[in-house]
Amino acid sequence: MINFQHGDLLNNLSAAVEQIAREHMRPFSREVDEHEHEINPDSYINTMYEVLKATGGASNSPVMGAKEGGDKKRRTGNVTSVVFIEKMAWGDCGMYLATPMPLLGGAAVGAAGTPEQKLKFMGRFKEGKPKWAAMAITEPGCGSDSGAVTTTATLEGDSWVLNGEKIFVTAGKRAVEDSEGFVVVWATVDRKAGRSGIKPFLVDHHTPGMKVTKLEHKHGIRCSDTAVLVFDNCKIPKENLLGSAEVKPTGDSKGFKGVMATFDATRPPVAASAVGVGRAAVEYTHEYLAKQGVAPRYGIGRNKLTAIEKDLMMMEAKVKASWLLTLKAAWMSDIGEPNNLEASICKCKAGRDMVAVCQKAVEILGPEGYSRKHLVEKWMRDAKIGDIYEGTQQIQKLVVARRIFGYSREQLA
Ligand SMILES: Cc1cc2nc3c(=O)[nH]c(=O)nc-3n(C[C@H](O)[C@H](O)[C@H](O)COP(=O)(O)OP(=O)(O)OC[C@H]3O[C@@H](n4cnc5c(N)ncnc54)[C@H](O)[C@@H]3O)c2cc1C
Repeated sequence: MINFQHGDLLNNLSAAVEQIAREHMRPFSREVDEHEHEINPDSYINTMYEVLKATGGASNSPVMGAKEGGDKKRRTGNVTSVVFIEKMAWGDCGMYLATPMPLLGGAAVGAAGTPEQKLKFMGRFKEGKPKWAAMAITEPGCGSDSGAVTTTATLEGDSWVLNGEKIFVTAGKRAVEDSEGFVVVWATVDRKAGRSGIKPFLVDHHTPGMKVTKLEHKHGIRCSDTAVLVFDNCKIPKENLLGSAEVKPTGDSKGFKGVMATFDATRPPVAASAVGVGRAAVEYTHEYLAKQGVAPRYGIGRNKLTAIEKDLMMMEAKVKASWLLTLKAAWMSDIGEPNNLEASICKCKAGRDMVAVCQKAVEILGPEGYSRKHLVEKWMRDAKIGDIYEGTQQIQKLVVARRIFGYSREQLA
């Protein structure tokens, strides 16, 4: 049975994360938005890391499979993760993405790595200095169609040699240059094998041949570094291929399932971050209107509500529905149920609806909403990323339709 009642441990930790979001993130939101790429990781990002570490939050990632209390069988890592992320994104979505955590790279290790690789590569996040992990799939000619990867991995003796270019890598610079993190790079070991030849490779920070060549200037989440990475004869140990090296016959897409499993793990967190931004916008709109003596009247007939009241209630409904879908997808992952459909549903709904919620907040605040006096215009910019990365809204709809109607990728593209 679905039970979204959180245990004491999660309640206590999430209260601590909420405090971080309120005291260490939100007050800096405008500053980090206006000073893209100028953030000193040694200042408040370090502070956030220390606070998270002290509460156990930094090591509570889905890949570590956090467990509640003494119940060893009950995995709660994914639900824990989305609860934390929603709160952090409420504080500031860009700062959440800039927080030293395993993020997408860790999710890829969790989804595609062997138990030994998970232990080996994820253990580093539990100790030492702040670290980031990134995941690089997108290339200049490969985005929505992740099977079109052209970066190559060639086995030479005991090493894989990577060559290619990856773009729009979240936390790319921090993972490569600013910490002891890593990047999970998706590359093909056999172009002729199509999707089944595509494999994930863990490339450690500062590996020769891996270079950051550009940082994007962005519309939103400007505190998060988004990098172009070039791999030029980048040599990594043979054992850094995550999971199996076996290439299935051409046309067998099972070999590609690591990418899909990674998305099943990362789409609920993306949905959670979108919900955090949407909730921030709804709460702020409430406070703004309350100062002007406007408070929605719940429980009366819809035909008696004012337009503003209807708008506010619709915003709240979108946030709540998106959040429940997100919790369901994360919970399914925790109990070991396939959640491909639910992960895409929550990502699609939250990504699309939180853009609408934030736009409505700007609209309700009037010209002030469009000004830099309030954060709603920033949230409107930040929200859009939830509708794009980890598969756009259109791609989520394709996944959902394929799952519900039983179409193959070839039948519905
Ligand atoms: C800030 C930011 C951070 C990112 N971080 C990462 C990261 O960490 N790692 C990473 O690998 N990538 C990352 N990305 C890349 C992101 O995942 C891609 O931009 C996204 O998957 C879309 O791919 P694309 O840009 O090539 O768009 P395209 O695939 O070219 O799509 C363009 C448009 O066409 C639509 N479209 C495409 N195919 C179809 C179809 N079959 N049916 C209907 N509509 C379709 C899309 O929905 C979209 O609206 C990031 C992007 C941004 C902007």
